[in-house]
Amino acid sequence: MGKLDNIVSLCKRRGFIFPGSDIYGGMAGTWDFGPLGVTLKKKIEKAWWKFFVENQENMYGIDAAIIMNPRTWIASGHTATFSDPLVECKECKSRFRADKIADNISESVTTEEFLATHTKCPVCGKENWGPIRKFNMMFSTRVGAVLPDDNADLTEKSTTYLRPETAQGIFTNYKNVVDTFYPDIPFGLAQQGKAFRNEISPRDFILRDRECSQMEIEYFVHPTTWEDNFEIMRKLQHEFLEEVIGLPKDKIHEYEVPEADRAHYSKRTIDFMFDYPNGEEELMGLAYRTDFDLKNIERESGKSMEYRDKVTGESFVPHVIEPSIGIERLFLAIISNAYSEETVGDKNEIRTVLKLPKNLAPYRFCVSPLLKNKPELVVKAKEVYQILKKKYSNVTWDDSGNIGKRYRKQDEIGTPECIVIDFDTLENNSVTVRDRDTTKQTRVQISDL
Ligand SMILES: [Zn+2]
Repeated sequence: MGKLDNIVSLCKRRGFIFPGSDIYGGMAGTWDFGPLGVTLKKKIEKAWWKFFVENQENMYGIDAAIIMNPRTWIASGHTATFSDPLVECKECKSRFRADKIADNISESVTTEEFLATHTKCPVCGKENWGPIRKFNMMFSTRVGAVLPDDNADLTEKSTTYLRPETAQGIFTNYKNVVDTFYPDIPFGLAQQGKAFRNEISPRDFILRDRECSQMEIEYFVHPTTWEDNFEIMRKLQHEFLEEVIGLPKDKIHEYEVPEADRAHYSKRTIDFMFDYPNGEEELMGLAYRTDFDLKNIERESGKSMEYRDKVTGESFVPHVIEPSIGIERLFLAIISNAYSEETVGDKNEIRTVLKLPKNLAPYRFCVSPLLKNKPELVVKAKEVYQILKKKYSNVTWDDSGNIGKRYRKQDEIGTPECIVIDFDTLENNSVTVRDRDTTKQTRVQISDL
């Protein structure tokens, strides 16, 4: 595993991830995915969707709007409680999350508790703090025409938010799906999409950004069966992370969140932690959310969220198990796990290689002619490239520099195999296949590729 700095640098150098709005000096907490990054990201999303939706018998997908009726966030509690403790240094005006710069205090820290820690400003070193203020992390926006500032009542009515989580788009569609698909319980609703959090201090590359992508399932179950279903979901998460995505078991750690640290509505939560370059960090969460969300919606909307069992006739509000994963967090876990630096050759040259699984690598093959200035090799190589492009689609062409340089470049972007067309190819239709991980070369017939 590489250092975070090296991974950030590789991501930029090779077109995986660029800083957001780079050309204007950036925009803190935002990142843009380049050609290779978006390819890898889409492969991750596709693998998740196939595994959790298409391959299951009781899962339904949805894709809800990002801008929702503001009552959504009143019902969910985000308007009242989705906030961080913000503190400002009176000397240098820097702002911080109080619980991130002082030890052993929680998100609900009071001004008195914070001052008692005698924390010094991380920027100027002084100790002169303003009061702790609750900073709501939702991005607010206006719907419809912008109103004059003195029209406070109407302004408030037109204010809504960019969704801080995708989950509520699922809960608010629960009744639609029940009324149109009549699913047998347990069943799940899955969604992938953007969520927005106005982090006070975004950091750690794409781990804590202001705009992130989530993949979430709300799994609706009979209240008495939540424990069994929790285990089923837990097993599925491991199967996905370890077998589909190829993350090593020994880098994934389950952390049973103690009652005091759990969200108030959750009766059980497991955080799946991953060994990232900067240490152990949360990769995903699995939470038992009880009937908290559906009951909130009942209260705010006045509509029944009861499910009627087709066999027993029993009516009840289902309970919910929620596996939730951030795509960027998974992306970074995959890239940092794949990143490796190896010493090769007699000159002790360093080879950087991304050992991505074949199903995730942006390019499956790279095709090139041994020599760029031999037309007969180029024509034959183009022919092989077209055959593979038709069969695998994610195949790239490279005829720049010498073969050694091409291999290094493909190693860095994780291409599993490089195919080279040489003079023997013209004789017997065999090509050189060079393996990324072993660097071994073998000769293979074109028809066997
Ligand atoms: Zn300061």
